Amino acid sequence: MNKPHHDQPVFCFHDVAKRYPMGQTVVHALRDVNMEVREGEYLAVLGPSGSGKSTLMHIMGFMDQPTDGRVVFEGRDVGRASPRRRAMLRRTKVGFVFQAFNLLPKLSVVDNVLVPLIYQNIGRRESVRRARRVLEMVGLEDRLGHMPGQLSGGQRQRVAIARALVNQPRIILADEPTGNLDSQSAAMVLELFDRLHEDGATLVLVTHDEGVARRARRRVVVRDGRVTEDSDQPEAATGNEPVGAAASEGRASA
Ligand code: ADP
Ligand code: MG
Repeated sequence: MNKPHHDQPVFCFHDVAKRYPMGQTVVHALRDVNMEVREGEYLAVLGPSGSGKSTLMHIMGFMDQPTDGRVVFEGRDVGRASPRRRAMLRRTKVGFVFQAFNLLPKLSVVDNVLVPLIYQNIGRRESVRRARRVLEMVGLEDRLGHMPGQLSGGQRQRVAIARALVNQPRIILADEPTGNLDSQSAAMVLELFDRLHEDGATLVLVTHDEGVARRARRRVVVRDGRVTEDSDQPEAATGNEPVGAAASEGRASA
């Protein structure tokens, strides 16, 4: 991965609002959001359920558009881009990691990982080569032919991360990526994100878990659709504190 050019913005949000009409009322999912995501940055978006975190991620992932304001990516307002261009940006510029992994159950590990390459004109042999390389990065080079159902949750999420990386995206967006994992698998996934950050990746991680958010170098807190805090964080102390684990287990047993 290329070394980051810190301070170079990947995304600039200017007065972004997102409203959903709901019958007679309107849900204000985002209001007056002004922020940047800079290259090489590891950013955690933190906030309670329903605060607008996923809406923010969907806008960054070109899956949704703001109702108001501007979102500038690579110098252009994506809110004004055609559906065709947005589909292209979605396929080539971002890597998405979901809470529920979202793997295709009838495809093998290697075939899941090369799905994002299908839309590009890359032959099967080269696609498999690239998929193997990212699967090596996540430590699953010995699981290429497995089906998702034959893997643990942590392994499935690492396959999903490999799939997110295979296009060499500008930015990796992870929405509650440890939410369905046991503490040990969650720790492995977070270690992988740490490593990607060290290698220069730009990462945005959405979480409602303080322990997970502490791993990032900057935190943005969203409440009721507004950014209420945006601050840098010192490097996380890793290894000897519970990271996401307590919260995940708490939910699992609740
Ligand atoms: P979070 O990810 O922080 O839990 P979301 O971004 O998913 O929050 O949602 C923010 C608010 O917008 C919530 O009140 C949610 O109910 C509402 N919302 C999200 N998506 C839609 C939609 N497609 N239609 C209507 N309301 C929505
Ligand atoms: Mg959400």
